[in-house]
Amino acid sequence: MYGRFHSYDLSVGVDGPGTRFVAFLAGCPLRCLYCHSPDTWNLRNGKLSSVDDVMTEVDKYTQFIRAAGGGFTVSGGEPLLQPRFTTELLAAAKQRQLHTALDTSGFLGDRADDALLAATDLVLLDVKSWHPDTYRQVTGREVAPTLRFARRLAERGTAIWLRFVLVPGLTDRPSNVEGIARFAALLPTVQRVEVLPFHRLGVAKYQVLGIPFPLADTQPPDEALLSRVRGQFAEQGLTVC
Ligand code: SF4
Repeated sequence: MYGRFHSYDLSVGVDGPGTRFVAFLAGCPLRCLYCHSPDTWNLRNGKLSSVDDVMTEVDKYTQFIRAAGGGFTVSGGEPLLQPRFTTELLAAAKQRQLHTALDTSGFLGDRADDALLAATDLVLLDVKSWHPDTYRQVTGREVAPTLRFARRLAERGTAIWLRFVLVPGLTDRPSNVEGIARFAALLPTVQRVEVLPFHRLGVAKYQVLGIPFPLADTQPPDEALLSRVRGQFAEQGLTVC
């Protein structure tokens, strides 16, 4: 099985529990205004790689990751653009007794079949907005598939870490946050909510690609705004990070 593989990284605590091998796949159907990896948008930006190619890299770290209580995360781009490749990567990681996580916007959640989800211990689900118009403005796509996928994950008992990127003037409306918080509170498998402050660390990639960065004039949220938004999630009984 071959797929378009972009790159990998090791991370601690941000892409699932513990130390993670994070496999970034190429291709994404969304165009988030704040995306910090526009170099992954195009499938052609990925190297045609086999599952064995990727796992050869993983195996350099498997013992260490297992000992550190970490795991394997497949990210992107959008991994569900390549569902079979993603399934086989997750299954190969499970064969190595690694905890597995899928980092996704959920927009292509209908492509995640039972085999893929059976190989997934945790879904890092990016809910980019609640209001459909804001979601469309942020991503260029519809929010409904993500919400449908979230309900399906909860029904089948799959653990979710819900992520929300807080962008001043774009995603920060109280009703927008409230909608996500109330929705998340109804999903019994949401273990935590991560409120991620907007940043501009990806700007250099836009310059290299010759693409204007749409949020060049937007500032990261200040502490007061972060605190208000985290508080909105906490008020719904959610664990907020
Ligand atoms: S879903 Fe992720 S990779 Fe795709 S455009 Fe949005 S932030 Fe970028």
